[in-house]
Amino acid sequence: MINRAEDILKHTFGYAAFRGSQREIINTVLSGHDALVLMPTGGGKSLCYQIPGLVRPGMAIVVSPLIALMQDQVSALQQLGIRAAYLNSMLSREEAGLTLRAIHDQELDVLYIAPERLLQDATLDRLVNIPISLIAIDEAHCVSQWGHDFRADYLGLNVLRHAFPGVPRVALTATADQRSRDEIVARLDLYQPEVFVSSFDRPNIRYVVKGKGDAKAQLLAFLQDFKSQAGIVYCMSRNRVDGIAAWLAGRGFKALPYHAGLSAEERQAHQQRFLREEGVIMVATIAFGMGIDKPDVRFVAHLDLPKSLEAYYQETGRAGRDGQPSVAWMVYGLQDVVRIGKMVQDSSANEQFKRIERAKIDSLLAWCESTTCRRRALLRYFGEESDTACGNCDVCMNPPKTWDATEAAQKLLSNIYRTGQRFGAGHVIDVLRGKKTDKVAQFGHHSLSTFGIGVDLGDQQWRSIIRQLLVQGYLSVNEQAYGAIQLTEKARALLRGEVALFLRQDAMNVKPNRPRRASTQVAVADNDLWEALKACRKELADALGVPPFHVFHDATLM
Ligand code: ADP
Ligand code: MG
Ligand code: ZN
Repeated sequence: MINRAEDILKHTFGYAAFRGSQREIINTVLSGHDALVLMPTGGGKSLCYQIPGLVRPGMAIVVSPLIALMQDQVSALQQLGIRAAYLNSMLSREEAGLTLRAIHDQELDVLYIAPERLLQDATLDRLVNIPISLIAIDEAHCVSQWGHDFRADYLGLNVLRHAFPGVPRVALTATADQRSRDEIVARLDLYQPEVFVSSFDRPNIRYVVKGKGDAKAQLLAFLQDFKSQAGIVYCMSRNRVDGIAAWLAGRGFKALPYHAGLSAEERQAHQQRFLREEGVIMVATIAFGMGIDKPDVRFVAHLDLPKSLEAYYQETGRAGRDGQPSVAWMVYGLQDVVRIGKMVQDSSANEQFKRIERAKIDSLLAWCESTTCRRRALLRYFGEESDTACGNCDVCMNPPKTWDATEAAQKLLSNIYRTGQRFGAGHVIDVLRGKKTDKVAQFGHHSLSTFGIGVDLGDQQWRSIIRQLLVQGYLSVNEQAYGAIQLTEKARALLRGEVALFLRQDAMNVKPNRPRRASTQVAVADNDLWEALKACRKELADALGVPPFHVFHDATLM
């Protein structure tokens, strides 16, 4: 049967070989056993049920919560000549009727279905009476009540074992921690499942993260290493995409814009050129990427911060699918943090969701500012421990130095306090550096004792300090007060000189001025950032009344 599977892989799907453990997974399902598949997004989970579904007699049932994507998935299969259909609440009564008829007449190879629909008595009654090849439960982590993606309907899926005796079930997810794993097996009532765990590591991707200065100049310098090679440059907004694409084109790059504001024809044309021509740089919003499978993308650059590490991992994962060396490059700045925070604040989501989104931003920032191996830290975030540094990321190649920033931090904190905790970074820094701006005059801030006490450090250096204090929880951004930077409870000890603060001396070269007589030596560096991150997750979990959990990127949120 595996020969038949290879045949379908090559001739129906047009792929040369199985990837990772696809072959073993398909074999397991073909032999009629249950399976649990943990594979990162983009790893190729779909083939693990689509192919055995075609090899085994009967119709394959694919349970998925991603209603919005079903139509696309089904169209893609239909284009390959596979008889696929879906059932969910987006279909009209007539459309659903047609699908039900096709099911009855046994004319389908694959049926995508939302869990709530599958579990309706009327649906189950129909399905148990026709031959079923297998049942795939995609995004299986939705059965976990600890995750942010819990769907009550998934809990009901345990009935499938007895409703479809002898039909193999395969559960698939990109969530890899042990707790979710056990929970999925138990709650779906999988029978002695074979468990397949893929690593989330992408060894051929080199991670490089820098503080944002003149982003365009930084991008240009980065691109010097990628003459005539394909890549993606992600930007936050449509305007910025258009601007950067035009600017790069003016410098001789084959750069094209891609965002939801372009017409369908333009998007299609640009996508085709990216896929077919060599050396095209796609400058895009996150609207670009889903379902794009170009093997030789040599770099993914982020000119603006993505909204979470999950999103970052997905977006950078589009680089180097052919296994050749590739780079994930990013610049990030305080503006990004404020922008994302505001986006979360302004969204119509409930408070719990917003809290989770904020925690995700904090995790991302902690990762950016971290002084440990990028790859290791990223994998650790996804629940994979490794004890060696990669030797390949920017941190490994060029370990950041740390410096005693206690005095600078005290100046900054007292200045924020004296200006009333009502302003953003720009104004706070202007006062520190003694700039006589209109705003300074308007609020009389030139007469403060903190006016001009920070002339020894530059604008970017102060921004870097603010960013790191934010990550470490000494400062917070108040979205309700238009992004004003405010002191936290924790800031007091620092202001009183009870703790010393060591910060990353990052790419923007924040220099120590004078050596300081250390009072209490509490080094806040390296792992402490991760401790801060863990604490933040713990706090989050406490707030939700659940054990700490891993949160993963969800396509439906983008
Ligand atoms: P997941 O569901 O794990 O996120 P998908 O099943 O959507 O991943 O697959 C991601 C991409 O990888 C798709 O474009 C798919 O066509 C491609 N892919 C999967 N398996 C293979 C393979 N064996 N060879 C080449 N491309 C593959
Ligand atoms: Mg998938
Ligand atoms: Zn490393």
